[in-house]
Amino acid sequence: MAEVEVINSDILTEVSKESFGGVSCIKLSFEKNEPRFMDFQLNGSKKKYEMALNLIGEIVKVFAWDPDGEPGKWSSRSWFMDVIPITIMKGSCKVCGVTDDLLTYSEDFGKSWMHYDCKFPS
Ligand SMILES: [Zn+2]
Repeated sequence: MAEVEVINSDILTEVSKESFGGVSCIKLSFEKNEPRFMDFQLNGSKKKYEMALNLIGEIVKVFAWDPDGEPGKWSSRSWFMDVIPITIMKGSCKVCGVTDDLLTYSEDFGKSWMHYDCKFPS
């Protein structure tokens, strides 16, 4: 899976549960960008919902994950996989120790961060 940044920097204004394309979803609303959605059936989505609720009012970055051979498959259809605050210091990756812009995975509502690839080596 390839990580794609779909929103570079915007204020998260609302987090709600809504139907999108007939699927029960988490809906993220932004000040300047179109809303983004995540299927509520996805593994970890409940955690992401709670995490997103904590980020309302924060400036965030939003990522989607496209299949390697299908660029744009999810990212161009208003789906998202990760929302991360860019106003909060994220420290370094819990697995490899590196600090960079790619720390997108958290298991504790944003207190500590990992690279997606470090958490789920392919
Ligand atoms: Zn790492």
